[in-house]
Amino acid sequence: VTASRTYLDYNASAPLLPEARAAMVAALDACGNPSSVHGEGRRARALVDAAREEVAALVNARPSEIVFTSGATEANTWAMTAAWSAIIASGVEHDSVREPAMRSGARFVTMATSPGGVANVATIADASQPARSAGRSVVALQMANNETGVVQPLSEAVTIARETGHAVHTDAVQAAGRIAIDFRGLGVETMSLSSHKIGGPKGVGALVVRDGATLPPLVSGGGQERYRRAGTENVAGIAGFGAAARVAAERIGEMHHVAALRDRFEREVMRLTPEAVIVGASAPRLPNTTCVALPGRSAETLVIKLDLAGVAVSAGAACSSGKVSESRVLIAMGLSPALAKSAIRVSIGSATTEQDIAAFLAAWKAIRGDARAAA
Ligand code: PMP
Repeated sequence: VTASRTYLDYNASAPLLPEARAAMVAALDACGNPSSVHGEGRRARALVDAAREEVAALVNARPSEIVFTSGATEANTWAMTAAWSAIIASGVEHDSVREPAMRSGARFVTMATSPGGVANVATIADASQPARSAGRSVVALQMANNETGVVQPLSEAVTIARETGHAVHTDAVQAAGRIAIDFRGLGVETMSLSSHKIGGPKGVGALVVRDGATLPPLVSGGGQERYRRAGTENVAGIAGFGAAARVAAERIGEMHHVAALRDRFEREVMRLTPEAVIVGASAPRLPNTTCVALPGRSAETLVIKLDLAGVAVSAGAACSSGKVSESRVLIAMGLSPALAKSAIRVSIGSATTEQDIAAFLAAWKAIRGDARAAA
């Protein structure tokens, strides 16, 4: 991130940690194939296995439960395409859960979302009868939302799913490194992780598969990852992911500083623009995420104006084929299309400073002033 820029889009991708970069650069020189028996191969294998332990430690899983993938999109796709008879998913899941789930041919049930952004897990019990008669079914409930930061009632979902005979998959991409994750304690079958949201490189992630759970491979061929995911390992990417996971675990205790910074930020935004709406503010949220709607303004324009002022944030809106449509997540929460189209997401991390927040607020104030002058 350049000195003149203020980067507040950690949920899209967090800046690469120096520790992750160093681990990757070192791993690039490990020429061996991790499947080879010679010294070079064993050296590459050792890097992959060390990273496996670091990623497992971040989420309290066993190293044997970590299967490295090309990212969370692959991990979510894998978890959703395991020949389920039914998939019960929240209305606020990421597209990488929802799209493969809808294409899988399984019966698809959506859990309702409260105005606060919380999934109604009671739907799991309602959906159980036909699902049980037809075969194995799965609940897909993310740990925290990428657009609003709302933390979902996953433990409750697991309890209901157990009683009614469903497996549970959770997308923990945005929660990792921001709130403590206890994979073993949670009792889910599978959990997806992405390296680049925690300061590692892009294009690598993991599906955590509970020991004993059976999940046919999505990518088959060689015997890598104990026959669960074929293909020569992305050794440098995995090494970077491991280093980022180690640093994230060390810094999780600092997250209350991030939450305090985010809270001060939200108070200032509300002082400058009292008409603004902090989306999901009534629900438990990640420490680092703010989704703010500014009624009457277009998120797209806000993002462009902030970018011109040197501040990087993102719109809550999805842009496809040149047409900006309002966010499906915000609509599921019951926001009006107009309000949803005015929502931007500001997401920070441990490296974010008071100066970064001040830069955003100065730009926000200027944008507000422009609108007033034009009115
Ligand atoms: N799930 C969530 C909640 C995400 O925010 C993202 C990234 N936008 C993904 C999955 C996909 O992760 P990846 O970029 O590693 O494919």
